[in-house]
Amino acid sequence: MKNIALLGSTGSIGTQTLDVVRASQDKFNIEVLAAGSSIGAIRKQITEFSPSTVIMSDVRAAKMLDEEFPTITVLSGPDALKESVVACDIVVNAIVGFAGLPVTIAALSEGKTLALANKESLIAGGPVVQKARKSMKSSIIPVDSEHSALYQCLHGYRSDYDRPSQSIKRLIVTASGGPFRGFTTDKLNNVTLEEALEHPTWDMGPKITVDSSTLMNKGLEVIEAHELFGIEYEKIDVVVHPQSIVHSMVEFVDSSIIAQLSMPDMRLPITYALNYPERSEAEWGSINWDEITKLEFEQPDFKNFSCLKLAYQAGEEGETAPAWLNAANEVAVAAFLNGQIKWADIPHLIAQALDNYDSRKAEEEHDIYEADKQARLITNQLIAGI
Ligand code: NAD
Ligand code: MG
Repeated sequence: MKNIALLGSTGSIGTQTLDVVRASQDKFNIEVLAAGSSIGAIRKQITEFSPSTVIMSDVRAAKMLDEEFPTITVLSGPDALKESVVACDIVVNAIVGFAGLPVTIAALSEGKTLALANKESLIAGGPVVQKARKSMKSSIIPVDSEHSALYQCLHGYRSDYDRPSQSIKRLIVTASGGPFRGFTTDKLNNVTLEEALEHPTWDMGPKITVDSSTLMNKGLEVIEAHELFGIEYEKIDVVVHPQSIVHSMVEFVDSSIIAQLSMPDMRLPITYALNYPERSEAEWGSINWDEITKLEFEQPDFKNFSCLKLAYQAGEEGETAPAWLNAANEVAVAAFLNGQIKWADIPHLIAQALDNYDSRKAEEEHDIYEADKQARLITNQLIAGI
């Protein structure tokens, strides 16, 4: 029986992780649940899964739950998140955004298996997260579908991230292209929030859905792939594949390409991460070949979706530049979700925020928090000026 800390349990990845656990109750025990403020949803999860600890970032929600469930430890705050990983075998980081950083660092520092959905922590934390990863030789099993695909394609081939293999020609990260694939600049100037939230192939939380519409999600995933697999940026390509069936590919120096395929269902990469190194007999994402008539591929539109280019640039810059990019993006996307700015403002704001990047080195955790804070401040000022 593996004990799981599921942090971000009420979201899209969180609830799908509980589907996976529900289907294999003999294998997994939910020890810790954590969420932001969704008290109604977590109340039902507590009743069904009986965790020993629950953490809410919202203090009022934590207080209410503490009174309702006297036999359960109910806590609040980032320190509680960090401490919660100690008693678990697997930590599923399904929190959205930079708020997931303490969990990623704590899980790796404690030598736990980290099933990582929260890409923002790895991207923003960069060198600091790598230090924690190496100190305990902890493993990160990616939950993001593209990286689960790359991990599976590379599996058995190389497991030591310190020695990037000479035999890999490139990683090919696939992208659905989002709801605005093929749109002209004019058309993109008039897209609405409702349209941005209509993803063609995946049903996800609002932040990542907007990131997918700008292709920032793919940009973040390029940085994520670099951090996970230690491959240089010039060897990481993005290919648009609207059906989201080929989840990513690895091309070797002899030009042979290995790909991983399934129907788009996040419960498959989650199952893979929770069962690793075994494979489970669960059938999420199973392909019915009668229903697939074509698999299409095209080049991304870097001009109209400049977030992708900005992410490559911040990734190449390294140090705290990805933290800066991530923070500017989180602030811009939140402003778009609140109706403060237009969709087309998002890439401009991030580009302007990056123009103000202060080139701080990423040596300690503190540097990452400082870069995040400064970039948020600047991006908020830029928004106020719109
Ligand atoms: P979501 O918005 O649906 O859920 C986010 C979860 O995090 C919720 O449970 C929320 O309560 C919790 N949360 C927010 N702030 C918190 C805090 N400070 N402390 C504790 N919990 C907090 O988001 P999602 O779509 O499930 O995405 C989660 C992460 O997984 C993101 O990093 C995203 O990029 C990544 N991801 C998601 C998908 C997907 O299909 N949804 C796919 C790949 C990667
Ligand atoms: Mg993805």
